[in-house]
Amino acid sequence: MGIPHVDVKAQYAPLIPELQEAFSRTLESGRFIFGPDVEGFEREAAELLGTQDAVSCANGTDALVLVLDAMGIGPGDEVICPSFTFYATAEAIARRGATPVFADIDATSLNLDPAEVERKITEQTKAIMPVHLFGRPAPDLSGFGLPVIEDAAQAFGAGGIATSIASTFSFFPTKNLFALGDGGLISVNDADLAKRLRMLRFHGSESKKEFVYVGYNSRLDAMQAAFLRIFLRHIDDWNAQRREAAARYGELLDDLVETPVDEDGHVYHMYCIRSTERDRLAAALGAADIGFSVYYQPPLHLQPALRYLGYSEGDFPETEKASRENLCLPLWAGITEEQQTEVVSVLKRASDLVTS
Ligand SMILES: *Cc1c(COP(=O)(O)O)cnc(C)c1O
Repeated sequence: MGIPHVDVKAQYAPLIPELQEAFSRTLESGRFIFGPDVEGFEREAAELLGTQDAVSCANGTDALVLVLDAMGIGPGDEVICPSFTFYATAEAIARRGATPVFADIDATSLNLDPAEVERKITEQTKAIMPVHLFGRPAPDLSGFGLPVIEDAAQAFGAGGIATSIASTFSFFPTKNLFALGDGGLISVNDADLAKRLRMLRFHGSESKKEFVYVGYNSRLDAMQAAFLRIFLRHIDDWNAQRREAAARYGELLDDLVETPVDEDGHVYHMYCIRSTERDRLAAALGAADIGFSVYYQPPLHLQPALRYLGYSEGDFPETEKASRENLCLPLWAGITEEQQTEVVSVLKRASDLVTS
């Protein structure tokens, strides 16, 4: 029968009548750019995240670029980020002409290791960009006296770092809060920064007549905002379902493989196990028609586009090890116990073969 890695449709299927109603309402309105649903979604998202303001944009990558631009970060500046993350994290920094400076991760949390971050701080460091990887909140890195920008693309509703300058979100369809297409958001507690972000996402203009900055065209579609307002009402419940499913995997897997250590606020965007026999386990899942993902191999410091940064293999041992060992199992809000049991029984059979 097969189990997908992420069943996006299973999550929104019960909401299809509501989504169709939102589609019809937008179609009737004839308004597809900005408007009441975009404003409404921003207001409701800020409320849920507990921030002063939220600024929507076209996707999670733009959200990062917009924040860096609004902070005046560009050529000659360094921003510290992990190498064990999606490419967009470092790409956004490089896109601004600034230099991504990688720091190694903690072996247990897979998030930035504060001691490794500290070693990378120089006179040129303008910000630290932790990623809440796989939905697990990264540690508070505000103690170094540098602005913190949270890449929270995988962690809507996870809490995060209260003193950060901004948090960015992606609504790519596999994220824990998703749109039916692309979408992004920046949450901020600074009115001036919010205003600058709103201008930058629209060609650096507030009035649409006077253009103050060289900006971007990066907007969230009104249609996506209408869908997101519906999904937003379910995100707490969806995150709770993810946590429950993660706890169930933990019990079923017992000590078969290294399982993620639970943590307050973890929303389990992914359920990521680790094993030195990863490739064999992955092959067994594949043979059983069970979806899985292996992330960030090679990690960012070894990607061709970032070769100019001068890193080489061996620079980040924990990152490279995680890249070789991680295996993300099927998970979404609503995965059944039966499906999880099947996944685990395939893993058990495969590891029996390995150890016998
Ligand atoms: C998905 C993701 C992004 C990019 O978001 P898009 O909406 O696809 O542009 C950035 N950072 C991380 C960590 C992500 O997982």
